[in-house]
Amino acid sequence: KPLGTQSSILIIGAGTWGASTALHLARRGYQNITVLDPYPSPSPISAGNDVNKILELSSSAPRGSAERYVSDKLAHDAIRGWKEDPVFQGLYHETGAVTAATSEEGRKALNEGDGYSEADGWMQLKTKEDFQATMPKGILTGDFPGWQGWAKKDGCGWVQARKALERVIDEAKRLGANFVTGERGHVLSLIYEDDDVKGAVTAQGPSHRADRTILCAGANAARIFDMKDQLRPGAWTLSHIKMTPEETTLYKNLPVLFNVERGFFMEPDEDQHELKICDEHPGYCNWETNPGNPNSVSTPFAYHQIPLEAEQRVRLFLQETMPHLAQRPFSFARICWCADTPDRAFLISRHPDYPSLVLGVGGSGHGFSYIPAIGGVIADCLEGHMDAKMIHRFRWRPETAVNRNWQDVQDRFGPDGSNHVMDFQKVAQWTSIEYSAS
Ligand code: FAD
Repeated sequence: KPLGTQSSILIIGAGTWGASTALHLARRGYQNITVLDPYPSPSPISAGNDVNKILELSSSAPRGSAERYVSDKLAHDAIRGWKEDPVFQGLYHETGAVTAATSEEGRKALNEGDGYSEADGWMQLKTKEDFQATMPKGILTGDFPGWQGWAKKDGCGWVQARKALERVIDEAKRLGANFVTGERGHVLSLIYEDDDVKGAVTAQGPSHRADRTILCAGANAARIFDMKDQLRPGAWTLSHIKMTPEETTLYKNLPVLFNVERGFFMEPDEDQHELKICDEHPGYCNWETNPGNPNSVSTPFAYHQIPLEAEQRVRLFLQETMPHLAQRPFSFARICWCADTPDRAFLISRHPDYPSLVLGVGGSGHGFSYIPAIGGVIADCLEGHMDAKMIHRFRWRPETAVNRNWQDVQDRFGPDGSNHVMDFQKVAQWTSIEYSAS
């Protein structure tokens, strides 16, 4: 059936990309949009359900290359959305960014390619004093051992993630998209008929038949559809510490500080007075059998604690940057799942064998800041007029995942001892943060 605004469109997953897709389609006049998710919106397991995210969209791909074109175009559209779309008003904080590395290997990786340069507005940071000067006095009191990096004042910063996700969902609903949550939105499998996909089967209630199905289930997508090893579900670790109201005021309008081997933080959340800190590493998988076994699969699970070794990495990062906060207890922590493609480019494509199935997956650790624009790319894909260079870059590409090396760190780093893909099955000790019932 040809696609039209009356066509029934089923979106699986009301997370970052699914919600953005629902909004873009509703704005394009589609009147029969259903979004399925096992959780009430915003889903607690959505990678986007987080207080803040970095927005730093510069690319190190060679100037003039197709990869650079795609990256720059998407960045341009996303930033325009953050600045001009009323849905995102006030949520982008263009406070700048500091990017650093500690080891020789990390620094080499940082300086490779056409990424950081003075011509592009970056300023080199070589000494502890250089780093300390990027923030008001009293914040960066650490020694920054071995740190070198770059700082930029504009075109980058951070975004209020959960608020953006909530606003996108609210606006999509206001424009008529129907969100089905709970077991009735919990997709178990797709409906296959006549060599095509005709909707989805959920854990409860009647199945959802649709003219077009869009899979945006993030790290869980490969549990619903055979992604031919193109997705590796992996988790990262985030933690919060409480700040005083005075500290929250002092820490306002800070650039994002990101060390590719240590971790990152942005200014504290104004509502809760909490500072989020992520430690950096190549990620955790949850291998249900040994990696390398053809039947093994990294299965996401939700947990509001992090491995003790992650806590130690967070404290190392704080010790090097803000030692006055290094021992403060965590008020919150969780693991957060995303899915990497083998080259960490997104996978946004119609499926070659199932004409009515569109895939919007493979966030690969950098998919949030595009929320204003990514649904437009997925909608273009559905409508068949996606940018030609994006079609190639984001294509269905199982050939890139044949005999995939599941241990590949994929250009990520961690401190000594955690510079490899880790396995939750081998984690013996976790934090034990107590949460009150409220
Ligand atoms: P999600 O937002 O996770 O959405 C998937 C949705 O699918 C969820 O709502 C889930 O409930 C739903 N779902 C799951 N199973 C089913 C099912 N069976 N049926 C129906 N629905 C289902 N990006 C940045 O740009 N900047 C950052 O600073 C940044 N930091 C990050 C830090 C961490 C710790 C992590 C983990 C990721 C970070 N990212 C960042 C990446 C970014 O968050 C993700 O790439 C992006 O949110 C992925 O969006 P998604 O829609 O694919 O997945």
